[in-house]
Amino acid sequence: MDQISLENWVVMHLGLIFMITCAQVLVVYALSDASNPTPGLGMYTVYFMAALLGWLAFALQQGSDIPMAVDVPSVASILNSYILFLAAGQRAGIDTGRFLLGLICLFSCLSVFFLPPQQMFAVQMGTASFFFAGTGLLCGWRSWNKHNVGDAIMVIAALLMAVGIPLAIYQWLSLGNYLQAQAVAFGVYSCAYVLVVIGFLASVLVEYQQNLSHLATVDPLTRLLNHRGLEQALHITLAHAARQQLPTAVIMVDIDHFKEVNDNFGHEAGDQIISQIAQYLQSAGRASDVVARIGGEEFLLVLPHTDPDGARLLAESIRKHIAERPLVVNQQSIPVTVSLGVASAVGEIDLDNLCREADRAMHLAKRGGRNQVASVEHNPIHLSTKVSQA
Ligand code: GH3
Ligand code: MG
Ligand code: MG
Repeated sequence: MDQISLENWVVMHLGLIFMITCAQVLVVYALSDASNPTPGLGMYTVYFMAALLGWLAFALQQGSDIPMAVDVPSVASILNSYILFLAAGQRAGIDTGRFLLGLICLFSCLSVFFLPPQQMFAVQMGTASFFFAGTGLLCGWRSWNKHNVGDAIMVIAALLMAVGIPLAIYQWLSLGNYLQAQAVAFGVYSCAYVLVVIGFLASVLVEYQQNLSHLATVDPLTRLLNHRGLEQALHITLAHAARQQLPTAVIMVDIDHFKEVNDNFGHEAGDQIISQIAQYLQSAGRASDVVARIGGEEFLLVLPHTDPDGARLLAESIRKHIAERPLVVNQQSIPVTVSLGVASAVGEIDLDNLCREADRAMHLAKRGGRNQVASVEHNPIHLSTKVSQA
């Protein structure tokens, strides 16, 4: 078989880079969502497109005899690595140092007019690996904070550049082998580029998956936790209460005659009332309290380290607050009341069991005439408040 010529290698290499980049950009754009945009997507797209142009310039330089007045591929690789640094900064939400590094980028690019090709090679590779190091720091920071393995892959790209480029420069300066140094640098740069492409794709996919699992634990209307989210959120708190024999209380809240509210004011107004009550419930207790929407117009408050008296006091203040202030929806004043059931236990608790008890208490409050607080304490059940109807 005939050997593959240099020109064909260059075309194959460029084709591969082009395909990988296009496939990745396509997947990333298919996943991106206008309501929840991917951070850094715009800048990474600029980077990928600029990188493709850089590879094209390189292919033209290698594969043809077209003379180039300036070393376009060198300038392109310096610019590209600076754009990558900006993209990583945008994705991490950090823009420190971009102007200073922008100046370094500018001087490195301008040096193409003064330096001979071999010195230019050292400037090009040194600057690129410098920007890659910055990118690596930003991606490492983001990977750590967001628990995202995709960003960690981009850190590997930075490490590869940090190790490979000095090796190439050493080969040239100490061993005097410029061609081999160029081949090593080219190989390292290509691998780092592919790692960035894969890393960015993986980062977006991991974020997408994290977003999906978050949505599975959050109620879309009120942004409160749903039942599943509640269990996850309380895992550590309940284990702590069990170990330290601490009291835990729950309050079940149900809006009274909500069907009538929907019938009289419309389903949309009903939704807004649910949202407003959810917002109030979240602000009513302590920061350590967990609030969840566990049914259409039913909410659950879990109060760690709270005894029955404390829980009853909070429930009563919630009842009073809601009953005394009609909610305003579409400039209409809508009076709303809630019935609340309180249950509590000490030490290890079965959350489902406690919820059932609070639910029983809440139904007792309903039977007692609504707009009331009732509680369950180790059976029997009793009404804790002979409320003055607000
Ligand atoms: P009670 O005082 O006994 O609690 O009476 P109620 O009408 O509130 O009780 P019921 O549980 O029979 O009805 C709850 C109503 O809440 C039925 C349903 O149409 C409405 N609902 C449930 N989820 C939503 C929601 O997300 N939005 C709106 N607007 N209404 C909802
Ligand atoms: Mg209900
Ligand atoms: Mg109801």
